[in-house]
Amino acid sequence: MYSIEQRDEQLLGTSAAIRYHFHFEQAHQHVLRVVMEVDIAQSGAVVLGLPVWIPGSYKIRDYISTLGSFQLTSADGKPLAWHWLTKNRLEVQAEQGVLRVEYAYYAYEKDSTIRSSHITRNHAFLNLVTCCMFVEGREAEIHHVYFHHNREKWANVSTQLSPVKASIAADEPLVLGALNYDIIVDSPVEIGNHYVSSFDYEGATIEVAIAGRGNYDADWLTDRIKTIIETEAPIFGGLPFDRYVFIIHLFPGMRGGGLEHARSSVNAMESGSGKHWGDTAKLHSLLSLLCHEFFHVWNIKRIRPRELGPFNYNQENFTRMLWLVEGATSYYDDLLTYRCGFYTRADYLKILAKDHLTPFFRTPGRNEASIKDNSFQAWVKLYLPHDDSLNRNISYYLHGDLVFWCLDLHIIAESNGTKRFDDAFRALWKQYQDRPEQGITEDEFMTIAEAATGVKIREKLLTWLNGKGDDLPLPEIFAPFGLEWKQTGAPEATKMGESLPTMTLATKLFTGMTLKSEGGKVIIATVQAGTPAHEAGLGADDEIVFVNGARITSVDDVETLIAKRGVERFSEIVLASDAGMITTALKPAPFLEYSLRTIAEPTDDQKRLLEFWLERKEFPKEEAKTLGS
Ligand SMILES: [Zn+2]
Repeated sequence: MYSIEQRDEQLLGTSAAIRYHFHFEQAHQHVLRVVMEVDIAQSGAVVLGLPVWIPGSYKIRDYISTLGSFQLTSADGKPLAWHWLTKNRLEVQAEQGVLRVEYAYYAYEKDSTIRSSHITRNHAFLNLVTCCMFVEGREAEIHHVYFHHNREKWANVSTQLSPVKASIAADEPLVLGALNYDIIVDSPVEIGNHYVSSFDYEGATIEVAIAGRGNYDADWLTDRIKTIIETEAPIFGGLPFDRYVFIIHLFPGMRGGGLEHARSSVNAMESGSGKHWGDTAKLHSLLSLLCHEFFHVWNIKRIRPRELGPFNYNQENFTRMLWLVEGATSYYDDLLTYRCGFYTRADYLKILAKDHLTPFFRTPGRNEASIKDNSFQAWVKLYLPHDDSLNRNISYYLHGDLVFWCLDLHIIAESNGTKRFDDAFRALWKQYQDRPEQGITEDEFMTIAEAATGVKIREKLLTWLNGKGDDLPLPEIFAPFGLEWKQTGAPEATKMGESLPTMTLATKLFTGMTLKSEGGKVIIATVQAGTPAHEAGLGADDEIVFVNGARITSVDDVETLIAKRGVERFSEIVLASDAGMITTALKPAPFLEYSLRTIAEPTDDQKRLLEFWLERKEFPKEEAKTLGS
């Protein structure tokens, strides 16, 4: 029976017939030496494999590409005959006793992320999916992992894997375990001298592990994490685990992002040299990320589409329901950040306009496919983006976020301010508790949500899920709350384009292109359909050489020169392309902004519904928690 549930006490004193030994003597060269031991009851063919993807990130990553130097032997060192069956699975003729499999894993992705592993002189971050092979047919057995690291050099190990021994001698390796292979795949491990702290919440141990550099304030962050737990756990009636580990990576050059697991999450933020720690926007996004990943404890790790667990680790696992697990979580992340008291109400409305509505309406691809299709095709769309993606596709995070916002407001309005989507989530949680081994279908979701809220959602939700972006009736949904959102030109302009550096200009301009600097050249990165840059015939990868007769040496030059000429006046652009030099004219438009505000004179009903939607517990020390707008 499929399960990712594990309590630490279940592993204490266990033995395992599948054991991985991790050796770190080549950490400086980013190499992990793995020795895998498998007890074999009867001689015969055994198949070993490594997953081609990691749950939570819908892309074929072929982790096997970084494994090598395989040696397969019997317990007495006799080499065994083996061959590859597929790109990620091998078959060996094993002999009764112990099968020993040794291999080297190169754990160093240049563009370090939370979905791979990373070993340096300083620390090791391992996602076991990248380096622990499965034994086909024996995935349900207990697995142990032995960490043979120098504990004087690396003092801390933070992971959701459970201790097998109550105490270990100085010369013994640390042994941790998982009840099955699915839990092995789900378990990241941080090893090194990172910051660790822990606290209790209603009987569960919460560990905070912060690895990185910079001037971060661990106490401040731990205090916020407590608030996140106090805010999220009551939605579902408590925590569903005995222990949980927040692994937080704050490294320079690290790609931001998070990945959810059953009893842990990895949350990464690019730390620069630490200077960002005083940056309110950066801190907002870190707190929002922590709220997001922690919400996944329920929504995706446990409440999940039927296709997402048990998994097939050898191929893509397609689902049309990422609108639920990522869409709802993306709507809830900033709502929870607000409920935690980290945002003021004014902050929250601004963030909804800036990070939720604006990017949605700036993506022409929102009207190309339904969110169900974009979910199904995540493997080849969201996770394989190209320069023209914004015109063909929209993220199901962003689209799903707006779908759930609409759904929540619809439920609140239709129930006259007595029910909200939290009520549906509680019922979905109950469904998981009754049937943890199997996820839900779209139809079950509708039935459960309608029963829990007493509001008919099926017809509307199906229209939104099967329709395109502009099928979401935002003004109609916002009206009962006295909310309105507007597209406005902003005269007191400071910015020219979403991705361009901020500068002070007399007029705010919009071109619809983003630029990048490459080897001293200024190159067009993307061109958004239906914008001035698109009209001017500009394309991705064109080099901008002259603007209004002046030679271009930086991205700033392009902005400044177009801005000098002014809004709705033509600038002459000279491009170098594979067809030679091309001259064209670009007429920038006024910069449009989307704002979300409450109407000047709301009715009592509108005020009441708005208060219900934005209800949160009172924070006596709210000023200390919010970061200010
Ligand atoms: Zn997520």
